[in-house]
Amino acid sequence: MNPIKHIPFALPLIGEAEIQEVVDCMRSGWITTGPRTRLFERDFETFVGNKYALAVNSATAGLHLALEAIGVTHGDKVITTPYTFTATAEVIRYLGAEPIFIDVEPDNFNISTSGLRDYKGNWDKVKAILPVHFAGKACEMDTISQIAKDSRSHVVEDAAHALPTTYKGKTIGSFGDIAVFSFYATKTITTGEGGMIVTANDEWAERMRTMRLHGINRDVFDRYSSKKPSWYYEVVAPGFKYNMPDLAAAIGIHQLKRANEFQRRREIIADKYSEAFKNLPLKLPNKLPTKDIHSWHLYVILLDLDELTISRNNFIERMATEGVGTSVHFIPLHLQPYWRDRYQYLPEDFPVALSLYERSVSLPIYPKMTDDDVEIVINAVKSIIGNTVK
Ligand SMILES: *Cc1c(COP(=O)(O)O)cnc(C)c1O
Repeated sequence: MNPIKHIPFALPLIGEAEIQEVVDCMRSGWITTGPRTRLFERDFETFVGNKYALAVNSATAGLHLALEAIGVTHGDKVITTPYTFTATAEVIRYLGAEPIFIDVEPDNFNISTSGLRDYKGNWDKVKAILPVHFAGKACEMDTISQIAKDSRSHVVEDAAHALPTTYKGKTIGSFGDIAVFSFYATKTITTGEGGMIVTANDEWAERMRTMRLHGINRDVFDRYSSKKPSWYYEVVAPGFKYNMPDLAAAIGIHQLKRANEFQRRREIIADKYSEAFKNLPLKLPNKLPTKDIHSWHLYVILLDLDELTISRNNFIERMATEGVGTSVHFIPLHLQPYWRDRYQYLPEDFPVALSLYERSVSLPIYPKMTDDDVEIVINAVKSIIGNTVK
């Protein structure tokens, strides 16, 4: 019997260029924030088309800095959704502010714009709206931006899934107040750990640049390359330790060059899945109605549990038996002990999020997958579903 091939849920695609750049970085003697981070930031500005890109050591750090820069403070409110990773909401608590959860759209897991419009709380306290471009499909940015404008709040985009993603032809990160990308190991491009903040706002960029490195008004590299004495620096605020090291940027420089190629490969895989599964009792991700780009960070299927004799958890176990790693994105925050207990949430408080969660499974989708790997996933899904339809 052939041993079954194991298809992990996620794998990075690291090329020789990345490896060589990390080796060169190590040999250069400069491994923390320096010339490679600077280059990565300049390349990123060009890639998304915005004025400032600030590299940080995670998207979580970037979201924290973004909210801090726009002035979110104790007692303020920030609107987001429960259908996200806890990082999106925890940064709000870092600042002593409170998240307001708005349920998501049943079609695409993104924040419901009607839910947002209908928010009946005190809009004066709302300092920011924090939409998540779930799986790499852009949120309804026109509506969200208009609501932010009307309520005199700002939009900080959780773009952890959204490289590269477009909205009405514009790249996510090229417009809007602040957007934050993630380079965590499983994301669309990676630096191991890392993130990037983009903005066109001079004042916020300056604040975030200072706060990402201890509240020091120029970073270490500047200190050693400028005319001022190398030992001198000024602390202007109690900042954080959020800078990206050159070792990570070395990987990012080469990953970014392949971001579009990676996206095209993920899109091909998404198309293969959608074609193969179209007659099964599953709800599949919607094809974008426009020419916009979906990053396809995730491919989430929803099981039609009324038509099947298995549960979502059984399905995941059977996929594992077939050698296919899957995941669930996300366990809605209002079900998590901290968020549930602090705000006294019931599961039904966000009925759409709850119902999506109970049926959802994320399938492997990454450029390192071969056509054979994709076939294995397709066959596993088809056979499990085929054997369990009522
Ligand atoms: C991965 C992720 C983050 C956090 O990114 P890190 O770089 O790991 O801090 C935030 N939001 C969402 C939606 C994510 O998926």
